[in-house]
Amino acid sequence: MKSVRKCFGDNVVLRDVDLTVEPGQCVVLIGASGSGKSTLLRCVNLLEVVDDGVITFDGRDITDPRVDGDDVRSRMGMVFQAYNLFPHLDVIGNVTLALRLVHDVPADEARARGLAMLERVGLAEKAKARPDDLSGGQQQRVAIARALVANPRLMLLDEVTSALDPELVGEVLDLLTELKGEGVTMLLNTHEMGFARDVADRVCFLHDGHIHEQGSPEQVLGDPQQERTRTFLSRIR
Ligand code: ATP
Ligand code: MG
Repeated sequence: MKSVRKCFGDNVVLRDVDLTVEPGQCVVLIGASGSGKSTLLRCVNLLEVVDDGVITFDGRDITDPRVDGDDVRSRMGMVFQAYNLFPHLDVIGNVTLALRLVHDVPADEARARGLAMLERVGLAEKAKARPDDLSGGQQQRVAIARALVANPRLMLLDEVTSALDPELVGEVLDLLTELKGEGVTMLLNTHEMGFARDVADRVCFLHDGHIHEQGSPEQVLGDPQQERTRTFLSRIR
């Protein structure tokens, strides 16, 4: 992202945001409620149209109005706080839907890839279950499997553990840690500072519409240079 600006009416939510995520990196956004973390992820995924600046993805300017948003989104995986699984489909149906409808993968191959992905997230035995019959942590792992199955170049994860009961948070964070180890590129926001410390390559503190401070987790979380960052961290600890 280069000099990205996003407003909702008079509300300037992002101003002059510069952010780079290299392949294989895990970049974590932190910041107060309303600081624009979700908006930033939605801009990257072209769910929001930026007002100014450039977002380059895979070497291409995706803020160019001629770009096909569906094509860009088909190469990113996005996971939300509230899983958003399709309740009328079973787990394997959820995981394979985009493969079949967006990527034109034949049903047999989609099923094989879906099952392999469920295996990877530890839910192979739940392939036939309905989302409602799973725990929150399991549902979120299905949502992550669904986002990963088409080998996205970038995963965007918006507070994927915030809706979970505390005892279920760990299983989802463990999965993200494994994905990082496998080289999956991730841009995410979270309030889980332990995860950020252990897994992030870079932590970015969003404040007042821009990235107020960024650096390694040791720097930003352990030795913040900006007063605002210190205040934010002292409130959430
Ligand atoms: P939280 O930690 O609570 O999820 P956040 O950092 O993700 O907060 P955003 O949801 O990105 O914050 O919101 C940033 C600002 O943009 C807020 O002032 C919000 O009211 C505003 N905003 C977000 N989406 C819209 C929208 N679709 N229309 C108008 N204003 C919006
Ligand atoms: Mg948000």
